Amino acid sequence: MTAARDEAEAHVRAAVPDAGPAPADIALLYTWMRTRTEHLAPGRQRARDQVIYRQGLEAAIAVGDTAAVRPHPCPACGCVGLFWQKARQAAVCVNRHCRDQDGLAHAWTLARLAHEHVARTDRLKSAAT
Ligand SMILES: [Zn+2]
Repeated sequence: MTAARDEAEAHVRAAVPDAGPAPADIALLYTWMRTRTEHLAPGRQRARDQVIYRQGLEAAIAVGDTAAVRPHPCPACGCVGLFWQKARQAAVCVNRHCRDQDGLAHAWTLARLAHEHVARTDRLKSAAT
């Protein structure tokens, strides 16, 4: 949790050096991140949201909630039902036809899933306005 907290704080300070002290209460950290960076360009806000979302997935995996990756569509084929493969430290596609250049099931990092999730959320927000 300390590494996640340090990363979150460093992410804010890289964009907003005078962001003030990060809250000691970890539950308030992400609110602090959002409020200190809400004025930044959309691309930087997406990067922030990706950090927050990826850390949420990492926390879920760390406590054994590997099903957290399941609702994400595979970035290659769009199938829903990824599963966590501990040995690869990646979310792997269930579609037996979805293979990479080595013939292995496509596998995705949590960072990639977070990137895709935030992009999808942004597209939905844009479509709604
Ligand atoms: Zn796939």
